[in-house]
Amino acid sequence: MSVLRFDNVSKQYSGGHVALADVSFEVAAGEMIFVTGHSGAGKSTLLKLIHLAERPSRGAVMFGERNLLKVRGRRVALHRREIGVVFQDHRLLADRTVFDNIALPLILRGMRRPEIGKRVRSVLERLALGARERALPTQLSAGEQQRIGIARAIVGEPRLLVADEPTGNLDPTLSAEIMALFAELPERGTSVLIASHDLGLVKRMKKRTLVLDHGTLADDISPEDLADA
Ligand code: ADP
Ligand code: ADP
Repeated sequence: MSVLRFDNVSKQYSGGHVALADVSFEVAAGEMIFVTGHSGAGKSTLLKLIHLAERPSRGAVMFGERNLLKVRGRRVALHRREIGVVFQDHRLLADRTVFDNIALPLILRGMRRPEIGKRVRSVLERLALGARERALPTQLSAGEQQRIGIARAIVGEPRLLVADEPTGNLDPTLSAEIMALFAELPERGTSVLIASHDLGLVKRMKKRTLVLDHGTLADDISPEDLADA
């Protein structure tokens, strides 16, 4: 069963720039997949079409059985609850504690306090952040901040996690740690799609890799073929 499908998707921004041209691919449930390509290749745009920060100019994006063209108005927020999003700059609330930052998506969906506490602490333990729950994001290292961003994205147990250059600001050791965290998600029922221009890092992960080149899908490389790419 596919969790995500792009059918001949094109995106032209107002002003005329074609960011994606006739892109088609499918992500199976439980798959971890990378999207790579030079700066400006269309990686961010592809991710934005999934969490509805942008709309395609042509073609369809399917999330399971849901055609995202038909998701409008109030249903946009409901759709976003099923997708975890991790940003390069993590976008944490600076004046809220680690606990509150991670709890936010659960509060927004009206979950009860005791259940929220349980879920947040469980994620904090998994990401080795247990001692940090009362800290403010600014008191944490860059790697810890990014782990909080990931905790917030996965605490709601989304069907799909998308991450846009999640290791862009981290050194190689921290980047590898963050990638190892992502790699654990498929066995827990969350498919993962990561945009990264860091080809070395992508190759070391040995996962299926989509290559964008000026908005077109130039390659779809299987893990076995990645070494030769
Ligand atoms: P990447 O993430 O691979 O760097 P992007 O998806 O951010 O690529 O951008 C793809 C192309 O679309 C780039 O040429 C970029 O300048 C352009 N672009 C991105 N967002 C917009 C926008 N809001 N309006 C106009 N052009 C945009
Ligand atoms: P990213 O590479 O993660 O998309 P950018 O710094 O390129 O980040 O873009 C930041 C914001 O500016 C995004 O919302 C993007 O859509 C928008 N943007 C990017 N390129 C252009 C452009 N050429 N014209 C207008 N907006 C753009």
